[in-house]
Amino acid sequence: MSRNSELQALRAANIPAGVANLHNIFVDRAENAEIWDVDGNHYIDLAAGIAVNNVGHRHPRVVAAVEAQLKRFTHTCFQITPYDVYVHLAERLNRLAPGPSPKKTLFLTTGVEAVENAVKIARYYTGRSGVIAFSGGFHGRTLLGMALTGKVVPYKSGFGPLPSDIYHVPYPVEYHGKTEADSLAALDALFRYDIEPSRVAAIIIEPVQGEGGFYAASPGFLQQLRQRCDEHGILLIADEIQTGFARTGKLFACERAGVEPDLMAVAKSVGGGLPLSAVIGKAEILDKVAAGGLGSTYGGPPLSCAAGLAVLDIIEEEGLCARAERIGEQIVAWGKSLQAETRCIGDVRTTGAMAALEFVVDNDANRPDPDLTKAIVAAAAKKGVLMLACGIRGNVIRFLPPLTISDELLNEALKRARAVILELAANR
Ligand code: PMP
Repeated sequence: MSRNSELQALRAANIPAGVANLHNIFVDRAENAEIWDVDGNHYIDLAAGIAVNNVGHRHPRVVAAVEAQLKRFTHTCFQITPYDVYVHLAERLNRLAPGPSPKKTLFLTTGVEAVENAVKIARYYTGRSGVIAFSGGFHGRTLLGMALTGKVVPYKSGFGPLPSDIYHVPYPVEYHGKTEADSLAALDALFRYDIEPSRVAAIIIEPVQGEGGFYAASPGFLQQLRQRCDEHGILLIADEIQTGFARTGKLFACERAGVEPDLMAVAKSVGGGLPLSAVIGKAEILDKVAAGGLGSTYGGPPLSCAAGLAVLDIIEEEGLCARAERIGEQIVAWGKSLQAETRCIGDVRTTGAMAALEFVVDNDANRPDPDLTKAIVAAAAKKGVLMLACGIRGNVIRFLPPLTISDELLNEALKRARAVILELAANR
């Protein structure tokens, strides 16, 4: 019996089925864009722990920063005895966040905790309760996270009742026939039929939907949302948890639209592989909450904040925003040439290095092919390439390689993925 199968049996006996595994591959070690499993198999990692390892696994500067912090202390709780790395990282993020308004940052640990806090702060600041999110959006798995998430199965089904006063409007996805005008009309209709704008605290949006399928809101759409929010005194919350930290070719995706959100939820790559999340937002808004109203025992853990400082240095010094654009171009060129050879790739798209292929039957946008998508992800893993599926229809393969991946390794991964896709497509 292989080590992987032994651990798989132990996992099945001890871990609830609700925590799904995409691959039955137990990791032994990882370095930059490569993973080795407990049986010694080698993989090229195009998943990056779901957009967490933008600077790769174990970047030497992250390792050094964490080691140095480890020698000092690991936990005191910022609310009891604060520490330098928390305020240093906040200071840098406040400077880097989009828009001219002075910013402040609250650190937490997980993405959904940042989302929950952003909503909490928006409600406190506006004195309103309504929150508008988008169909197909993903904001996490807590009760409020689920309520904001715009997909029922598997995220919300059976877990109700969910928090109230949450509304959804369609995310603009032209490939699915939903235009930006449709989305804005739905928002106006919501204001007319469901909730008056003066009761809405916030609109929360992923500038590029992650789990939903890597659909990007255009700069114009985000600007229109900003305008609607300003008209009605509603706060705009950008969920940059998957899009942040150079992934889309900018430090934050909102920069692409020249839009300053009131609050941003960030997580994943900010910690370079260690748990860290934050709400970064206008100081005036964050400062309004009374002392004691914000925080958590582990919020902004010292090891993670130390890692976060190294992450920002790496992004800057290694030019990872520009690198993201190059990676995206490389994947799109590869995807387009593949698309021309089969009838199963309906769409090839990217924002920076947030690239995706959408699989359909016979080039028909209305016939998603989630089975082929799953089969490709599984077969690619057997060829040593780790990829992730996503999409409201389960038919998108997303590419999230570490931005530090070499051209050589990325080409090798794409070469193998191409062979897998062509073979499976031919057998459809
Ligand atoms: N928002 C977005 C956009 C995400 O992609 C995710 C995680 N995939 C979350 C929120 C939730 O983050 P976490 O799993 O760290 O709670």
